[in-house]
Amino acid sequence: MKSLIINLTNTIRILYVLVIYLLIPYLKNPIKPKTNKPISKPYRKIEVDTELPIVETIEVPNYKELLKQYEHKHGKPLKPINRRKKINFPKGTKCPYCGSPKEYIYTNNGSKGQCLCKVCNNTFMLGSNLNKKTISKCPYCGHTLEKTKDRNSFIIYKCKNDNCKYYQNKLNSLTKEEKEIYKSNPGKLKLRYIYREFKFSLASLNPNTPNRPKIDLAKAHNPLNVVGLIMTFYVNFGLSSRTVSRIMDEVFSIKVSHQTVLNYAQATAYYLSSFTKDHIKDLSSKLCGDETYIKVKGKWRYIFLY
Ligand SMILES: [Zn+2]
Ligand SMILES: [Zn+2]
Repeated sequence: MKSLIINLTNTIRILYVLVIYLLIPYLKNPIKPKTNKPISKPYRKIEVDTELPIVETIEVPNYKELLKQYEHKHGKPLKPINRRKKINFPKGTKCPYCGSPKEYIYTNNGSKGQCLCKVCNNTFMLGSNLNKKTISKCPYCGHTLEKTKDRNSFIIYKCKNDNCKYYQNKLNSLTKEEKEIYKSNPGKLKLRYIYREFKFSLASLNPNTPNRPKIDLAKAHNPLNVVGLIMTFYVNFGLSSRTVSRIMDEVFSIKVSHQTVLNYAQATAYYLSSFTKDHIKDLSSKLCGDETYIKVKGKWRYIFLY
């Protein structure tokens, strides 16, 4: 009995120490009651560089030459790819740069059609008829752009030259606070020239739809930036095709009939559907919610919704 009491007292003592130990962080930093005011975080505006990079072509030697060079350097021939699964390449598939046959071609992302050549180490799209390797250079300083991200549908190139005019101008125009932010977290501000290369060609966007557009955007009478402007008025501002046609004539002196506006909209939708269909998800049984603050009779109220 006596030993049981001693045991229990010891346990109580240990628990007491444990409670004090757990309370210390709270006593040091008591949890502040939540305010019912929204947290205002400044968001960075999206910036897009409109200047296009300088594109230069470089010659890639023939694959037979490259295979010879490999054997000379490594003392053994470069082996064709050892595949676990057979891939049905379209007839006549070869690397558009060095001409290597399909035995040396990796399929990078399956159905999307991106391939990598084992011989010249270049990536390309299946069915592409490019036959020259291109490099992109910064339009401000002429430095070769570096590939920084390679996503499913686009590649991001960046000018990493510290002496670039574009970078220097942006750096000099920063306020004191922005400079502090840039120092601690360079990714928060966009100071360098960025170019986004989309991995598609208009010719490859050929979804099997019976609703083929009346006009081919690649051969449109107006340049694509005019088509973009027309679409901005018609879609973003929700104006009628006749109003858009009038604006184009009276403001920009570009004559476009209202039927052309409608045709452009149909053709644009046709091309865009290839991008958006990747993001349509089936409805699931899950319910999603979000939260926000709204002002009710001058007071901030927190709400969440489903
Ligand atoms: Zn190649
Ligand atoms: Zn540059």
